[in-house]
Amino acid sequence: MALVATGEMMQSDVIVVGGGPAGSSCARELVKHGISCVVLDRCEFPRLKLCAGWITPQVVQDVEMEISAYPHSFLTFDEIHAHIGPYTHRMQAVQHSIRRFEFDAWLLQRSGAAVHRHDVRSIERRDGQYVVDDRFSAPYIVGAGGTRCPVYRSFFREANPRAQALQAVTLEQEFPYEWQDGTCHLWFFEGGLPGYSWYVPKGNGWLNVGIGGMKTQLGRRDEHIRSHWERLTGRLGKDKVRGHRFEPKGYSYYLRGDIRVAERDGAYITGDALGLATRDLCEGIGPAIRTGIDAARCIESGSRYDPRPVEACSTTGIARRLLEYMFVRRSEKAV
Ligand SMILES: Cc1cc2nc3c(=O)[nH]c(=O)nc-3n(C[C@H](O)[C@H](O)[C@H](O)COP(=O)(O)OP(=O)(O)OC[C@H]3O[C@@H](n4cnc5c(N)ncnc54)[C@H](O)[C@@H]3O)c2cc1C
Repeated sequence: MALVATGEMMQSDVIVVGGGPAGSSCARELVKHGISCVVLDRCEFPRLKLCAGWITPQVVQDVEMEISAYPHSFLTFDEIHAHIGPYTHRMQAVQHSIRRFEFDAWLLQRSGAAVHRHDVRSIERRDGQYVVDDRFSAPYIVGAGGTRCPVYRSFFREANPRAQALQAVTLEQEFPYEWQDGTCHLWFFEGGLPGYSWYVPKGNGWLNVGIGGMKTQLGRRDEHIRSHWERLTGRLGKDKVRGHRFEPKGYSYYLRGDIRVAERDGAYITGDALGLATRDLCEGIGPAIRTGIDAARCIESGSRYDPRPVEACSTTGIARRLLEYMFVRRSEKAV
């Protein structure tokens, strides 16, 4: 069905709330199958999204990205340096960095979907339709609005309450910087941080520096993420990032917990809205894209949507056990 505007109401097959990686991937898949959809996002794209912007080869594959044709900042690392105390482990793994400011706008534009800047406030169920703010109507709705998604709030919160122990708090800044060290560095548990900090160089002379930690463990120690940030940037200011005045912004999101209900009566929930970031490296772009695509395919085929098989961890073996214990299990004990 084509998009139809009747009076003030816009009718489509699907309303996608949120135009981040989950929403744009879902929209692209729907458009591919000739299913009409509108993407509603409260922000005009390109928009700021706090994120280190580290992506895996799997993400590149899932979004069918041809690297040589990607028109924005893109950098490939052959290894990542993971530091724990005095030890440095060189993880031999091809990984990439992008800038979310560019990547998300590129994905959304490429989806081919109709995009409306709209801050979704109320979602009602009327005569088999989802009606958003009396302006948009569709028999299906996809929640891709990230941590504060209104679809989650309206239809999925009760079934999948957010677990306090899984909340990660972050501070970060991305800025133009002529970096000399083109390696991606991760520092785990520095100064007792229940999390890790990062230095992620980007293409075209950009750099992302950030820090994330588990909120309940910080609270138990009566610490704030900002004191860890100050230690990190104080150290970086002496070597890797000289002469920069850091002005971070903060954001919080949830790591992967139990998934009880992810689809009901034509409503689907994806990405950060469901809390799908991995329990060891807090990686959420990949799970957002995977579930966005899956939700679209289920709408198209009528099959059951089940995000549970999406990986809950990024690493395997000892690294996975150690990180999951330090982030999630210790937080559960701290609640
Ligand atoms: C500091 C930080 C660093 C991170 N680093 C990485 C990393 O390096 N690699 C990685 O894989 N993951 C990382 N993550 C996690 C990753 O950013 C998220 O998991 C990912 O963005 C989830 O995508 P999404 O599409 O579900 O949600 P989002 O990307 O959050 O998109 C949601 C969209 O919904 C819109 N929206 C929200 N509410 C409404 C509303 N009421 N009406 C309309 N629109 C609305 C928002 O404007 C937004 O555009 C990081 C997260 C943080 C905070």
